[in-house]
Amino acid sequence: MKIHHIPCLEDNYAYLIIDEGTGEAAVVDPAEPEKAVKAAQEHGVDLKFVLTTHHHWDHAGGNEKIKQLVPEIKVYGGSIDNVKACTDKVENGDKVSLGKDTDILCLHTPSHTKGHISYYVTGKGGEDPAVFTGDTLFIAGCGKLFEGTAEQMYQSLCVTLGSLPKPTRVYCGHEYTVKNLLFALTVEQENVKIKQKLSWAQQQLEKGLPTIPSTIEEEMETNPFMRVNLPELQEIVGCKSPVECLREIRQRKDKWRG
Ligand SMILES: [Zn+2]
Repeated sequence: MKIHHIPCLEDNYAYLIIDEGTGEAAVVDPAEPEKAVKAAQEHGVDLKFVLTTHHHWDHAGGNEKIKQLVPEIKVYGGSIDNVKACTDKVENGDKVSLGKDTDILCLHTPSHTKGHISYYVTGKGGEDPAVFTGDTLFIAGCGKLFEGTAEQMYQSLCVTLGSLPKPTRVYCGHEYTVKNLLFALTVEQENVKIKQKLSWAQQQLEKGLPTIPSTIEEEMETNPFMRVNLPELQEIVGCKSPVECLREIRQRKDKWRG
């Protein structure tokens, strides 16, 4: 499989996923559908379906338009997420095939929205898998808990996504990496990996390049919300359990103005 970034709106990313053997493609969260259709044309591929992570307008807001532009297209979205123009509702564990060599597993990762889905994509070419995490897992951060609890976000980040193979590439919904790492440093001032990643991310942006993808392994090293199982982090934050620690860090982030 091949994956291409499609920058949308102010700081969103849609992604084009291509099954190279067949030239079939899927697009994740095409908030600006014309850009997705153009990217598919440029790569000479056939858009077969949309993978919607959640119902917010900057993710699902292009679904109706893309159905007009590509009438045969299917639109996947979480069964309890009320996704616009959804044709195929999915639940945790559902599988979708793209072309002949690319498989997509739907993972229910609630809390930002209650029906949020992350899409875990594997190819048969021996490349590392990829996961599209929308606004649940950001690079070095997580989404706001708009429709769920800290318990659910803990389950989504540290159990569901945290169980994926460590080399899995993480593609999230927004370019928030530098801000998130600056905040992460306020939580863990001595974390060298966070400092290193921050200077790398700043250089990427200066060159006009994305900071995405990351990997599950890098997130476990630098993302405070994925590190709440660590007793040393719980101690720094002053909490006694992973969920309490996640709740506390999320509250600090909500108040943080950078
Ligand atoms: Zn959102």
